[in-house]
Amino acid sequence: MKRLEEIQEISGKVFFPTYNRYAAAMTRGEGAYLFDTEGRRYLDFLSGIGVASLGHGHPALAEAVCEQAKRLTHVSNLYFMPPQTELAARLTEAASLDRVFFCNSGAEANEAAIKLARKYAREKYGEGRHEIITLEDSFHGRTLATVSATGQAKVKEGFAPLLEGFIHVPAGDIDALRRAVTDKTCAVMLEPILGEGGVVVLPDAYLQTVRKLCSERDILFVVDEIQVGMGRTGKLFAHQWAGIEPDVMTLAKAMGGGLPLGAMLAREKYADVLAAGSHGSTFGGNPVACRAGLVVMDHVADGSFLDHVVEMGELIHARFNGMAARFGFIEEVRGRGLIVGVKLSVPCKEIVARAFEKGLLVNCTQESVLRMLPPLIISEKEVEEMVEILSDIFKDTV
Ligand SMILES: *Cc1c(COP(=O)(O)O)cnc(C)c1O
Repeated sequence: MKRLEEIQEISGKVFFPTYNRYAAAMTRGEGAYLFDTEGRRYLDFLSGIGVASLGHGHPALAEAVCEQAKRLTHVSNLYFMPPQTELAARLTEAASLDRVFFCNSGAEANEAAIKLARKYAREKYGEGRHEIITLEDSFHGRTLATVSATGQAKVKEGFAPLLEGFIHVPAGDIDALRRAVTDKTCAVMLEPILGEGGVVVLPDAYLQTVRKLCSERDILFVVDEIQVGMGRTGKLFAHQWAGIEPDVMTLAKAMGGGLPLGAMLAREKYADVLAAGSHGSTFGGNPVACRAGLVVMDHVADGSFLDHVVEMGELIHARFNGMAARFGFIEEVRGRGLIVGVKLSVPCKEIVARAFEKGLLVNCTQESVLRMLPPLIISEKEVEEMVEILSDIFKDTV
């Protein structure tokens, strides 16, 4: 299967039509660029939905993965694995959290957090304290529990009955959250920046108040950093901008640099809740994925790397704010570091399609928010290339 046409034809027959894919079959990547079967080159401002944060074909990452694949690929969690332990130690040292559970995806990380919160509350307070408050327009995954947690109707459609006990409140509205908290509440779970929800940055003061509220009521404060953790915002974890310490944090996407790897981290206080036999994963913390994770940590847990993320984020914001003066349909530029949302007053589907034709990969959330999640190693030159392509398209947009 060497040509796009053939791949498209067969794919149309053998896959569930779950994904609306662009007409490209990617075969190779190098830094911020992807190449397809037809020899076309794309500037990747999505990095596989915020996953390939070190860019494509990173030599140190490829080498570590190859070396580990030759040495040992899988043994299950019946045994210790040196790379897994090393990565867990590195993560707990970098985060203000003490315990790690490894899994393979974001949804699984959030599942672990949901199970932890419910079990902690049951053991300490007995039955009935199982409600979890999440935000409207949030996204927490595609498993049944995380679909129930998600605050968007479109992901729930057709899957009822969902898991009970999830309450959604408007993002950023502290009074609504206060009203929703009862003796039945065991956790508040939120994304510090709502990614799929349209790149909505929650104010630091809001996060600080949620922190306080959760501490007062012994409610677990769970931050879903699956999209914005691991350096994406210019700090290792996005909640650090608010100077808070959550009780639980979930990670995935960028954590394995392209390999499937997720994690749920929590404070020491909750360590015994997930006792032996209460939770688990066959693949979770696979040594190959963890070797990749160690390379990612080597790079992103570094001050000058994070400074670069901040700098490139500021450059992108400055360019779009500049364009907003010329193009009236640009309403707002938002985000932090290298998660950028450009809110338009027009639908962005057409703009994204035209960008694809011109060899630029971006996407669209909430109908009218142009979203960018470039590799964190993006250069000034590549930012300018993206700006040139988009401003060209904007000229023809009304
Ligand atoms: C992507 C994402 C998830 C789900 O991760 P999967 O690896 O697709 O299961 C959960 N929460 C947030 C904030 C995400 O961006």
